[in-house]
Amino acid sequence: MVLQTEEMKLPNALRKCGVNIEDLDFVINTHLHWDHCFGNPLIRGKKIFVQKKEVEFAENPLPTYYLTYESSHVNMTPQWTYNREGLEIVDGDTSIVPGIELILLPGHSPGFQGVLVETTKGKYLLAGDFIGQMENWTGNGIHKHIIPASNVSQFDCYKSFEKLDMLDLADRVLPGHDMIVFEHEIYPY
Ligand SMILES: [Zn+2]
Repeated sequence: MVLQTEEMKLPNALRKCGVNIEDLDFVINTHLHWDHCFGNPLIRGKKIFVQKKEVEFAENPLPTYYLTYESSHVNMTPQWTYNREGLEIVDGDTSIVPGIELILLPGHSPGFQGVLVETTKGKYLLAGDFIGQMENWTGNGIHKHIIPASNVSQFDCYKSFEKLDMLDLADRVLPGHDMIVFEHEIYPY
């Protein structure tokens, strides 16, 4: 069972960082797995960037992913559909404001996107679920990168890693599920 405490709820979690929902300029959904868009209905009047391929897959997922997308095929209602009008659907790599780019990285899901943020020390990748642990990025001596266990296509993961290799990111990658990111309060450090 997954429980969301009061503290975890989106408005409260943001407030803890000194931000109110009304202060947000826009929101980025890296993908539409339920645990990454559950707050969408709370974000009214803001653009929520998401990839076209991800919306298409979320509308009609492979049956294996019905629960992951809370699909209507299993009599559920995906949270993102309660704020469909908020979606700003993009198709491929897109610069949304100076210094922030969306980069299409299929693998964890078909329309997954990472976020590239320009900093004084080069571009950082907010990798989300595409790179769960730092080891997925840094590899193990045999493999340059380790494809995360949670993926919809190893082929796509491989190609997306090749795409990232072209960016020369070095260690400027923040994995989505690794406590290592909390070693620094602010990036770049
Ligand atoms: Zn996911």
